[in-house]
Order: sequence, then C-alpha cells, then structure tokens
Amino acid sequence: MERQYPLLTVSLPKLRANAREITSRCRACGIAVTGIIKGCHGMPEIARAFLEGGCADLATSRIEQIIRCREAGVPGPYTLLRVSSLTEVPDVVRWCDMSLQSEVAVLDALERECCRQQKTHRVLVMADLGDIREGFWDQDELVAACVHVERELPHLTLAGIGVNLGCVGSIQPTPEKMNDLIALGRRVEAAIGRKLELISGGATSSFTMVHWDTMPAGINHLRIGENLLLGKDLQLEWHIEDMDYLAMDTFTLTAEVIEVKDKPSHPQGKLCMDAVCQLPTYVDRGIRRRALLSFGRADVGDAFALLPREPGLTVWGASFDLCVADVTDCPRRIQVGDTVDFSLSYVNMHYLTSRPDVRVVCVEE
Ligand SMILES: *Cc1c(COP(=O)(O)O)cnc(C)c1O
Repeated sequence: MERQYPLLTVSLPKLRANAREITSRCRACGIAVTGIIKGCHGMPEIARAFLEGGCADLATSRIEQIIRCREAGVPGPYTLLRVSSLTEVPDVVRWCDMSLQSEVAVLDALERECCRQQKTHRVLVMADLGDIREGFWDQDELVAACVHVERELPHLTLAGIGVNLGCVGSIQPTPEKMNDLIALGRRVEAAIGRKLELISGGATSSFTMVHWDTMPAGINHLRIGENLLLGKDLQLEWHIEDMDYLAMDTFTLTAEVIEVKDKPSHPQGKLCMDAVCQLPTYVDRGIRRRALLSFGRADVGDAFALLPREPGLTVWGASFDLCVADVTDCPRRIQVGDTVDFSLSYVNMHYLTSRPDVRVVCVEE
C-alpha cells in the first residue's frame, strides 16, 4: 500500500532559486558554497537542484546518503561532514572525495586505507573555536596534525581547515571568530610552506555575516544546508529578521483531518505524564474545536515546530502518531477529510524525509 497522507511536497524551482541567491552573494565575497543535503535525507533530486543553483559540491553527515545520491547519478563531488569513525574509514575512502577530520589516529587509518584501495582522499582539518563539538581545541596540535598530513601521509591531501559554530554549543559566529580561523590558517600555511585551498567558516549560521556584509576577507568556503532548504536561519529568527530574497515555503506538509469535535481546552482528570514524559501546563479556554491530524512526533519530531499555513490553526498537542490542532479560530470550517498545510522547521524536515511511510513528491512549480 502507499499511504496518501501525510504528504510532503518539495518545490525544486524554489530550492534552485534559493541556491542561486545564496551562491551568488557568497561568490561576490570570494566564497564557494557546499550544499548540505543531510536535512532532507540526501534526496538526490534536491542534491541536483543545489548543483544547478550554483553549489560547488555536496556534503552530508551520513555515507548512506552519499551512496544514495551517487547511485541516482548525481555527480558530486561529495564531502563527509561528520568526522569519521575508525570503523567507517573503508567506506569514507570508497565513497567520499573529502572528509572533515579531527583525530590523528583516523588520519593515519585513512592513509593506510587509501594505500589499500589505491586512491587519494582530501581532508578538511577542523578547529573548535568555542562551540565544543568536533575539532582541535589546542591550536598547536592542529598545526602539527596538518604538517603530519602534508609531510607524512602521501595519499591524503590537506584541502584546508574549518570550523563549526552556532550549533552544539550555540556560540554565535562573529567576525572575531572568523579572524581567529583565518589567523590559524595562516599559521598552517607558514608551517607547510604553501597556501591552503579552503578556509571554511561554517554553516548557515555563518552565512549571516555574508547577509550583513560583515564577513572578513580570507574566509573562502561555507557549508550551507538549512538556509538553502528552508530560506531561514534560527539566528535570524532570533533577530526577528528575514532574508527576503529566499523562499521559506520550499516544503509543504499536507495532513488529513481524521476527526473534528468540540472538546474542553483543559484535559479532564488527574494530570500525569504526556507521550514524551513531560508534564505540560494547560490553559482553560473553555470548549474549543479540535481537529485530529494523521501524523505525529514519529513523522515530524517536534510537532510544535511546524508552521501552520491554515489561517487560525494552532498545534495543541501530539502523540507519536497523532497531532491535535485547535481550529476554533479558522475562518474555513474544517471537516473530516479536509487537508491542512504546514511549512517546516529544520527538525520536521529531518524526520519527514527519512520515514518510509511518508509520501514525498518533488514538483516543478
Ligand atoms: C550540518 C552541518 C553543516 C550545515 O549546517 P546548516 O545549519 O544546515 O547549514 C555544516 N557543517 C557541518 C560540520 C555540519 O555538520
């Protein structure tokens, strides 16, 4: 069987347009853009749209998605974003053109595997400038690792260095942080006696500096996912500002209404845990009209992160397989069998695109 709803519709022209807007602005600052496809489960149609929109290459954190795109005939090149585990080194060499790295033991294992497979492999060595995720914390160690790759690992090419900010540790990417990375790049260049090809300043959260025209010269590479896919960045929402040149309605979740009833807005009985072991608080707003939708947290992750397009509709609650919406204030009289649309947040996209039972359709409109 193939379930009709929930249905996820992907606008390829809007994604191509977002890619063109972002890559042209970056190009004007001397920055090449890698299109990140992990948010959409490595969908090959989207990978192709990114390349058509001007991305130099593609990247994701999971090798399976790179294999999926290669097998669909999307040429790449491909970079693996999650620093590789020792156990996946053979697949990194087999499937990826470049990878992000932060451990000398893994770099040495890559060299040995490249010898075995008679291949070469490019690496971007990561620095941690405060976000406490992947990367060398000690800058002397980073320089030594780069020299080691350059001098002692002949099958590896040191493509450059990179950083990630505004993620695990929620540190804002600033011109100061970028200048720290550029200075570190100059140290590496002095130590190896040549220029680095890539000084990679981060992800969507670093594109804000291109947007605000504050990106220091010297950063020549960004790795962008969320902004290409959804036309927004959490940091900008926090600043209450849009990038008005980007489309935010690139993805549409369509859900079917399976029950409509007037019910109390405050649950009745003794309160305990909800579906995800939390004890929410409820506001008593009297009797409200409730529409039950046929998707849940298993399909979208955080249901409250969805952005309803139906005027007046709000998400009230969700189990793993159901979503309860308040439709009292909808001008349209919602009935069983109707469908309602949502735009997505990044978390919703991660879940929806990776479920085998959610229908995904790409359209040319
Ligand atoms: C996910 C990721 C990116 C892209 O992040 P977005 O916020 O989607 O732009 C860039 N670099 C690394 C290392 C990542 O893991």
